Amino acid sequence: MGQDRGPAPARVSRRGFVRGMAGGAAGLVLLGAGPLPGGDPPLPPNLPDGLFSLGVASGDPVPDGVVLWTRLAPDPLNGGGMPAVDVPVRWQVAHEDGFRSVVAEGTAVASAALAHSVHVDVRGLRPGAWYHYRFIVGDQASPVARTRTTPRPTSRAGLRFLVASCQNWKDGFWSAWAHAAAEDPDLVVHLGDYIYEGGQGGAGIVRDHNSPEVATLDAYRNRWGLYKSDPALQAAHAVCPWVVTWDDHEVENNYAGLVPQVEAEAPGFPARRAAAYQAWWEHQPVRLGRPTGPDLRIHRTIDWGALARFHVLDTRQYRSNQGCGTEDLGEDCPDRTDPTTTMLGPEQEAWLGQSLASSPATWDVLANQVVMTAMPLAETFFNHDQWDGYSAARERLFAQLRAAQANAVVVTGDIHAAGVADLIGDDLSGAPVGTELVGSSISSRFDPATADVAELLIAGLEHVDYVNVRQRGYLRCDANPATLTAAFRLVDTVATPTSSITTASTWAIRAGTPGAQLA
Ligand code: FE
Ligand code: CA
Repeated sequence: MGQDRGPAPARVSRRGFVRGMAGGAAGLVLLGAGPLPGGDPPLPPNLPDGLFSLGVASGDPVPDGVVLWTRLAPDPLNGGGMPAVDVPVRWQVAHEDGFRSVVAEGTAVASAALAHSVHVDVRGLRPGAWYHYRFIVGDQASPVARTRTTPRPTSRAGLRFLVASCQNWKDGFWSAWAHAAAEDPDLVVHLGDYIYEGGQGGAGIVRDHNSPEVATLDAYRNRWGLYKSDPALQAAHAVCPWVVTWDDHEVENNYAGLVPQVEAEAPGFPARRAAAYQAWWEHQPVRLGRPTGPDLRIHRTIDWGALARFHVLDTRQYRSNQGCGTEDLGEDCPDRTDPTTTMLGPEQEAWLGQSLASSPATWDVLANQVVMTAMPLAETFFNHDQWDGYSAARERLFAQLRAAQANAVVVTGDIHAAGVADLIGDDLSGAPVGTELVGSSISSRFDPATADVAELLIAGLEHVDYVNVRQRGYLRCDANPATLTAAFRLVDTVATPTSSITTASTWAIRAGTPGAQLA
């Protein structure tokens, strides 16, 4: 390939480029194009077919690079199916899908200790450029996928990003992902509930889980194997880089910090959280060091030129225990407004204040999980799992948004509903500090028994512009320096593998003016 490498950064030799990455983010295990000290691990003989059954992915783009991901798993529902040895994996990045002009390549190690997952932090790419990539092991090649870098830091070129969350396998098929793949997005932002930890069976399920509720590393990995095997999901990963965070179901419903849903299970919960976080890391294209216990910092900033800064939040790992009882929905109580409670934890709170204050971007997009705007139902009931249950923490965040004079757009998952609202706190008559877009769910259902009353009560709030709890889908956002336009793309049904999709409504947010108008 010597003279055939196209417009690679000429000043860096391929080997030097690859070696240069080895000092990057801790835990991204990288080998040079030449042998490591001690040598590449040998290619094991007789590897099974179907090494790339979980597809490929890319994520956390920067102006000069992106993280490439795969996991070797010929038998993903049963421990992966790989021999218990490390395996060398070639990777290649090219301008076109024929790989005639390879601009970067190298060898990474798929470590048996990390479920033969591979994370490659490719650097030396051009800003604002599209690439193709693939992985190769022996005579097996992965699917070819597209990815891109972010624009140069001063660019305000337009951006199309999709927002998605909540893909309960049992609740339905993911035709939304097949449609998402056809939207030509620059970026997909996933707000969590990528997997659900629950067991099998139950009323009204569309397809079943592969096991009882998962709580061990092996069981979480097999659950990830099930979810990642979906062809529509793989297709959506193959069209652009993703930025992912997590919600509760990657570990357990409604956990708060180190407090599990069933408090009697607290002694074993750090080990469970460690297993769940490791399995998450093994399956996501993130530029994060590998987890080594129950803690994993995932809050981070992704800049899209000077147009948008994504503040990626984690509202589960550090939150105080829910104050007003263990149910989601309950009456108001003094703990709801206790100033000592936290949603983000002190370190993440300080980081967010800095990330907002230093933002060069027109749009500050908060990749959030639970609904942030005030949502009193029948005046006295609150969902205490949401920011409403952490009212003082919300006021501190709003103060940060005001201080930064941010064009704040909060994108939210968790609740399996589509919605648009002014971002407002307990003072319902106060001025909004931004706009909240709640992005529906890929497949997770909203309890049909409460759909009517929920829509009635939520739509009755003056600062809520739109609510739809009945359809599944995602949000398509087009941002430019003047306007962020958000279209709710909702499928007709998740009961069948394919479905048509419609734009249920479209909203425009003008820079400098909180709130959305029907477009
Ligand atoms: Fe969910
Ligand atoms: Ca929950």
